[in-house]
Amino acid sequence: MTENLFGIDERILALAHEAEKECEQMFAQTDEIARFNGEKVLKAFIDNRVSESCLKGTTGYGYGDCGRDTLDKVFAQAFGGEDAIVRHTFVNGTHALSTALFGALRMGDTLLSCVGRPYDTLEGVIGLTGEKGSGSLIDFGVKYEQVDLVNEQAPDLDAIAQKAKSAKVAYIQRSRGYSLRPSLSVEIIGKIAQAAKSANPNIIVMVDNCYGEFVEKREPLSVGADLIIGSLIKNLIIGSLIKNPGGGIASTGGYICGRADLVEKCADRLTCVGMGKEVGCTLSQNREMLLGFFLSPQTVANAVKTSVFACRLFEKLGFKTLPESSETRTDIIASVLLENEQNLTAFCQGIQKGSPVDSFVTPEAWDMPGYESKVIMAAGAFTMGASIELSADAPIREPFAAWLQGGITYPSGRMGILVAANEMCKKGLLRL
Ligand SMILES: *Cc1c(COP(=O)(O)O)cnc(C)c1O
Repeated sequence: MTENLFGIDERILALAHEAEKECEQMFAQTDEIARFNGEKVLKAFIDNRVSESCLKGTTGYGYGDCGRDTLDKVFAQAFGGEDAIVRHTFVNGTHALSTALFGALRMGDTLLSCVGRPYDTLEGVIGLTGEKGSGSLIDFGVKYEQVDLVNEQAPDLDAIAQKAKSAKVAYIQRSRGYSLRPSLSVEIIGKIAQAAKSANPNIIVMVDNCYGEFVEKREPLSVGADLIIGSLIKNLIIGSLIKNPGGGIASTGGYICGRADLVEKCADRLTCVGMGKEVGCTLSQNREMLLGFFLSPQTVANAVKTSVFACRLFEKLGFKTLPESSETRTDIIASVLLENEQNLTAFCQGIQKGSPVDSFVTPEAWDMPGYESKVIMAAGAFTMGASIELSADAPIREPFAAWLQGGITYPSGRMGILVAANEMCKKGLLRL
């Protein structure tokens, strides 16, 4: 017997019960992946002799910070790279990606984007938007080429091979960001890497791995990628569950992992040439980053389950979702196509209402800088902007899709989704 603490409409509860039953197989697969990846991570902790002293941080220049150096090794082993640089001083995913691009490319080199236009925030970094003199890659004499997806669905392997011949970096974005294309599986990333490398064995295959870590058993480095890059607050939750002496913690950061010579170039770009990874104090971040990485496979599984459940429930409520609830996942994002503004607003307000932090706040659509239409965002998270925690955001325009991600525990994620459905129900927006 469970109490209906949240006052969810009985008809929604009945559908949720059915939806959960129908998700059993996907949930079992997700658990199996979490077990596999959790073991990889545990092994990396043990093999690299993580000790209590690694949990302490340094100040000043950060010479000989054993926690920092060990964290890099743990990441590298778990992701299958030779080396890694994991730092709280990467201000976000874009910064880590920018560091990797500037680390690998030189004047006269060509950057080839293999699957269409990269994530919005990379446009300025590359120089596709912005002014001359901005300091973008193009501004520094790097050339840019792009191969679009065939029918906005599949990578164009022939065209990629053709353009790879004269490129230095083949850039692949795993997750779809704010587009409606499918996310790329690790298998497909392998095919793109193979196409590029068979045309040009020296090409550097770089993968924007945001939202993809630990969703599959393999990471892109095992199928031909040379470098993977991501943010720590997308899939790799750091510290947000644990109280830190000293109050609120600014959990943040990013990583670059892969070939040692390339990681070194990126490290030189992040700090200074010749100093690279040897400097950079960690303050009090080592414990959070190690603990967060340790929890990450399970946290990702909770987010995937929340997402699969949300898709199944909303399919039963008559909406289309991308991916469909039964599709194998390669990232933690789903879009729920909510058909009109009223639905979209009620859904996002419901997600906020069911969040552990700021549940009493009502999000509204606003003119966010850099976006063409109004955007509504729901996020009641312990770490600001952490999309591994249950969150939804949506531009107010066709097809009125809410991009949904996260859920650090499945029970709380599931209830957040139910509160969102209930919010739509209370406003008479559901056909029940
Ligand atoms: C979010 C995202 C980024 C940028 O990460 P930020 O932390 O928001 O700067 C890059 N690529 C993809 C696919 C993303 O989803």
